[in-house]
Amino acid sequence: MDRIEQQIVQYVDEHKEEYIRFLGDLVKINSITGYEKKAQEFVRKKMEEFGAETEFLEPDLKKMFEKFPEVAQVPSIGEEGLDMPLMTDDKFTYEQIMASTYDRLKSYKDRPNLIGRIKGTGGGKSLILNGHIDTVPVGDASKWKHDPFGAEIEDGKMYGRGTVDMKGGIATMVFAVEALQKLGIKLKGDLMMQSVVNEEHAGGGALGAVTAGLTADAAIVVEPSGNSQTIQDGSCGGVYWQVVIKGREAHAGARWKDGEHYGVSANEKSACIITSLLKMESEVNKNETLMSFCIGKLHGGTYATASAPECVMNGVAYFFPKLGTGPAGINKVKKLIRDAVMNVDDPWLKANPPELKFQHYDDAYKLDGSKDAILKEVAGCIKDVLDKEPGVTVAGGGGDARHLGNQGGIPAIYYGPGSAVMAHSTDEYIELDDYIKGIKVLAVAVYRWCNGV
Ligand SMILES: [Zn+2]
Repeated sequence: MDRIEQQIVQYVDEHKEEYIRFLGDLVKINSITGYEKKAQEFVRKKMEEFGAETEFLEPDLKKMFEKFPEVAQVPSIGEEGLDMPLMTDDKFTYEQIMASTYDRLKSYKDRPNLIGRIKGTGGGKSLILNGHIDTVPVGDASKWKHDPFGAEIEDGKMYGRGTVDMKGGIATMVFAVEALQKLGIKLKGDLMMQSVVNEEHAGGGALGAVTAGLTADAAIVVEPSGNSQTIQDGSCGGVYWQVVIKGREAHAGARWKDGEHYGVSANEKSACIITSLLKMESEVNKNETLMSFCIGKLHGGTYATASAPECVMNGVAYFFPKLGTGPAGINKVKKLIRDAVMNVDDPWLKANPPELKFQHYDDAYKLDGSKDAILKEVAGCIKDVLDKEPGVTVAGGGGDARHLGNQGGIPAIYYGPGSAVMAHSTDEYIELDDYIKGIKVLAVAVYRWCNGV
């Protein structure tokens, strides 16, 4: 590390308490998906304090659908909107959302992305730092040992919804840049901070930023990628599906009528479809695990003494980028699911085909190996700043690098503090030591990247 880099690390060490306080204050502002604005205002104020030029930019839903019809999604608010079935079996359209009854999901009004800019002096490489300000809901608050919005600290961990996913990352981004600014370190390349909305489920914040034309030579999405020591160079996609199976309702005594099978329970037919879907999954995973097929909900029937007239199943198929990135991967997984559901060798299901609808989908992402300069840069910083061997993996869930990378054409990686294992969980926490390490590595990475050091 050169003299300036040593100064950066020392500066971060001297300001730990302030960083922890800010993160706690940010966690205390509830910013569940759909209610992001107050937290954005809080972060904006901090960015302006250290001289960033800031802007609120609402994602333009109509333009997103015009530009990226294959991947644009209906906005979501908490869990609302996730159950909106597609009218066609293939993809959402802007017109469908406008015609729906989900009035709150027709635009990103009052849900702005926050953009902060530090203009470079010229001649360097530009960089985007990206994080999402929204969090998933709390779930059953009575199951939490710590107040989900209390930012309580115990044994070096801060607890609360969004601590690791990813207010820790947002604060890491903010303080990495602040350290450079406070030390008076000039950057040659332009630096942009993005605090985006609606990453959870829809990804509309990041897609909105890409649609608005925001770009750079590379991007770092500050998600929890593995305790400030591991980089993720890709993320999974997901296809949410619903199957409605029909039966023939009859009293239990009428199951066999004149020796014929008369009362057909949709529940027993669901077994054939489940078997077929799991067979598809195991074939896909024959050589390596590429898909996680989850049957999350199963509901059918009215009485114990009558065959179920209907059975509804809901779930998601997560898939690794090796199955395909961008729209190609989504379409491939949809076809696998469709074939498994529709081609079951059963006379009843042949005569009464189930209804399959897709409800939501994300594309998988993988960094183009020929454009991995940003990955090498951050890996070098982990080694030099933390004296650790950097790891590289693919994120098991989805993330916004997909939009920056697939639709924006920006070489993007995930690097940030904490472990995604704790994301979305009860008693979510971040290791504060990790958080501080992340700030150091990121600050040095920004300095090296933008200045060509
Ligand atoms: Zn996240």
